[in-house]
Amino acid sequence: MRPERFDSWLTVDGRGLYCRPGGFHIDPYHGAKRAVITHGHSDHARPGHEHVLATAETLAVMQTRLGTVATRGTQAVKYREKLQIGEVTVTLVPAGHVLGSAQVLIEWKGARVVVSGDYKRSADPTCPGFELLPCHLFITEATFALPVFQHGNAHEEVAKLLKSRAQFPERAHVVGVYNLGKCQRLIAVLREAGYERPIYLHGALQECCSLYETFGVRLGPLKPATGTAREEMKGEIVLAPPTAIADRWSRRLPEPVTAFASGWMRIRARARQQGIELPLVISDHADWNELTATIAETGAEEVWVTHGREDALLHHIQSTGRKGRALALIGREDEDQ
Ligand SMILES: [Zn+2]
Ligand SMILES: [Zn+2]
Repeated sequence: MRPERFDSWLTVDGRGLYCRPGGFHIDPYHGAKRAVITHGHSDHARPGHEHVLATAETLAVMQTRLGTVATRGTQAVKYREKLQIGEVTVTLVPAGHVLGSAQVLIEWKGARVVVSGDYKRSADPTCPGFELLPCHLFITEATFALPVFQHGNAHEEVAKLLKSRAQFPERAHVVGVYNLGKCQRLIAVLREAGYERPIYLHGALQECCSLYETFGVRLGPLKPATGTAREEMKGEIVLAPPTAIADRWSRRLPEPVTAFASGWMRIRARARQQGIELPLVISDHADWNELTATIAETGAEEVWVTHGREDALLHHIQSTGRKGRALALIGREDEDQ
């Protein structure tokens, strides 16, 4: 029988979620003594911790993006490797979100807690798929936690992009993508669809692509968009950060068709507002159906909900007989959506 309530040993302090019997924070805000990091997005992986434990991929992402990982030491952990930290056992298991992303399984006195970080259930050729872990307490994200959010099938969305390209051979297609994860996933799905032409990249995207390649993700021929002649980019696919597609940067492209790969593109008004001609509903987060199915499949009796639209998901959780709680964590506005 489990002796203690979860919130007596998993607490939220000024640095974020803290596991008392393990003596570590998970994805802390800043300056933790010991941090376990689920993945490299900036709302989870922050600088300034003394010791950081994560997958080798996440450590490399942090090194690339932050220029530093920890002030004292790092520990790279393999998926499914069981570690004793203080009184608890910690295991990192694939979350299917981005390269290196992990759920953190914490076991203590017979209780199993899963901190899922960000996750998705749909296929992604750039990282191992989400693994379902039965647990008593499941801590879930809620980025797209409204029934209206139903992400597309990435291959079908990419087929729309390729169809538009065939229709407008004189125009460039510029696709807004987040720099860590979405960019590489879109490229990999294009390659799976048999597209082998060079893909042109905004300079801000190059570094993360190289990092993925270092870890064996095949991205095929990539070329810098900057410095390439306008003529050469006719009929080509160009990837850029979302902020660059609407600004001066994209004026260098021949009559660009503007696209954006994001879960937000399900909301047509939002796409129109942003001047997106070709919305592609591709997300690295779980959509409503994935969130509710995952919660049910874990068998968790209690669910804590972090960043996002908690209300609808909490209502759903309670209506299925589970205990739900909104976890107020600072600094959780998702970088990638
Ligand atoms: Zn993330
Ligand atoms: Zn996040």
